[in-house]
Amino acid sequence: MTDNKQVLILEGDGIGPEIVAEARKVLEVVNDRLNLGLQFDEALVGGGAIDATGVPLPAETLEKARNARGILLGAVGGPKWDKLDMAIRPEKGLLGLRSGLELFANLRPAILYPQLAEASSLKPEVVSGLDILIVRELTGGIYFGQPRGIETLDNGERKGFNTYVYTESEIRRIGRVAFEAAQKRNKRLCSVDKANVLEVTVLWREIMEELAKEYPDVELSHMYVDNAAMQLVRAPKQFDVMVTGNMFGDILSDAAAMLTGSIGMLPSASLNESGQGMYEPCHGSAPDIAGQNKANPLATILSAAMMLRYSFAMNDAADLIESAVGDVLDRGLRTADIRTGEADQVVSTSEMGAAVLDALNARLN
Ligand code: NAD
Repeated sequence: MTDNKQVLILEGDGIGPEIVAEARKVLEVVNDRLNLGLQFDEALVGGGAIDATGVPLPAETLEKARNARGILLGAVGGPKWDKLDMAIRPEKGLLGLRSGLELFANLRPAILYPQLAEASSLKPEVVSGLDILIVRELTGGIYFGQPRGIETLDNGERKGFNTYVYTESEIRRIGRVAFEAAQKRNKRLCSVDKANVLEVTVLWREIMEELAKEYPDVELSHMYVDNAAMQLVRAPKQFDVMVTGNMFGDILSDAAAMLTGSIGMLPSASLNESGQGMYEPCHGSAPDIAGQNKANPLATILSAAMMLRYSFAMNDAADLIESAVGDVLDRGLRTADIRTGEADQVVSTSEMGAAVLDALNARLN
């Protein structure tokens, strides 16, 4: 277990402060009751940071983030900052944190609590009990490859181009994260590529095969990305862990998120090689409901649980939070976004947070 017990809280914009407040209370309760020794600090990022300092990622925030082991973020952005120059938009704060801390591994679980099976657009029997983890490479691939640009050719026609590039070491380090995640789950890893067309993914497949020899307890399979997209909506429960590059992962993880039908439920983690990580819900700052005490805080609470598991190796505390969320759903409590029927009791952000605290305390007594 790491000695660094620093948690940096970044509320961000829109619903960020409301959902992070609930997650923080959950963290504080498990910290006190289980004597975890976590220490909390806060900083500004995104639109709020622009208003206060002129930039979306103040140097002080980056410094605090570098010193923290786990960073819990709400969400950034909103209409107030949409007209700003691209270089100082709120989203740049997130990108700056990802690149500043080299958070190359993005972990996105798509879990469908059985209680919410009706919220999915797929048939309940196809998705009920779904529990998959998508591991996406986050700092390389075609989104960052050089050369890139739009050029005018001699004949006056314009040409746009990007470069899909991965080095062996980049593939190996994301591969290791995925194999190790699979070891902690059901020991099946599906590597997604387009090795029938793209050389860079021929290399990707070769490296995954090499790594497989070091993880004999994990069963490795390969799938082309087009088939993976199809299989995700046909029979998603066939997967345990999926690993893929930046662009394929971007698309597949959003598709997987929607299988659960409830974006307010999905946490995520972005990790670097030392296990330092930033944890955030998959959704944005939801300006349409900001300040109304309507947002679902569960994705943020589940992100806090992921932080305990992946950055602090506090698995019992993480399990406890996840079980408490299950208890609350069992009671039929729902924020408006996950309401599926008349029997559900619609609650506010703060009521949902309080219910999770009650469930935690009940489990701890
Ligand atoms: P969004 O995820 O914020 O909202 C999409 C829809 O989902 C909205 O109707 C919203 O009310 C609802 N929703 C989202 N989270 C919810 C929650 N926890 N509970 C209940 N309902 C929820 O996406 P968007 O509208 O495309 O973006 C809004 C802003 O968020 C933009 O400024 C965008 O740039 C930013 N954004 C930030 C992040 C991030 O910080 N990681 C990610 C995506 C979008």
